[in-house]
Parts: sequence; structure tokens; C-alpha cells
Amino acid sequence: MPSPRYWRERANRFRLEAARCKGCDRVTYPARTICPSCRGTDLETLNLSRKGKVVTSTVVHVGPSEFTMEAPYAMAVVETPEGGRLMVQVVDCEPSDVQPGLEVSLEFRLIRREGHSGILCYGHKGVPVG
Ligand SMILES: [Zn+2]
Repeated sequence: MPSPRYWRERANRFRLEAARCKGCDRVTYPARTICPSCRGTDLETLNLSRKGKVVTSTVVHVGPSEFTMEAPYAMAVVETPEGGRLMVQVVDCEPSDVQPGLEVSLEFRLIRREGHSGILCYGHKGVPVG
């Protein structure tokens, strides 16, 4: 049985819940209770926009077999307008088209199946805009 913590974190992930440090304005995702930049503990919760721009990307040629995407596929660090960064798989385009500056929307989609148990895991994926 998944623990209550699992469900709570799952809900936080769905909302793209990040934290902004009131000391140095650093935005961290997932949300943390201590700022990784200044070690401050005065943080506020903030929900990231469901869109962003690719900062860096890489093409994965051999992926874990449980992922729903066949390799090769693109993984990218996407920065939202709030300054939060997250690593997502970018889909619905050629992996080579995923370059810094590409605008993507963040959509909640199926990521993988847990082995033979059939548990479905969802997470955000980047989809090029326009
Ligand atoms: Zn800070």
C-alpha cells in the first residue's frame, strides 16, 4: 500500500508546488523547507506555471525499459516564468528539435508502469508550444 506520504507528495507534484526563499528569492522545485542557496528557512509555497522554456536538453538513447517512451527521447531542464526548474521528458516532437529556448507546456501524463504490478505513475512532460 502506498503510504500517506506518497499520496501527499503526489498531490504536491501534480500542483507543481515549489518554494520561494524570502531571503534570496531562490525558487526550488520540488518545494523544500530549507533554501539550498542561503540555508534560510523562511520559505513560501508557490505553484509554478504549467509552461516554461528549455534551459538544457539531452537525448537519451537507451532508456529504462519501464518508461512508456521508446528511446531515443529528449530530457530537458525547463525553467518556468517563476524561476523554478524541473527535469522533464519532452514529447510530441523529434528529440533533436528540443533545444535551449524552446517553449513547452507542462502536461500531466503517464510516465511509466511499475513492473508487473501494473501501478501507473504520472508526472509532467514537456510538449512544445506552437
Ligand atoms: Zn535563500
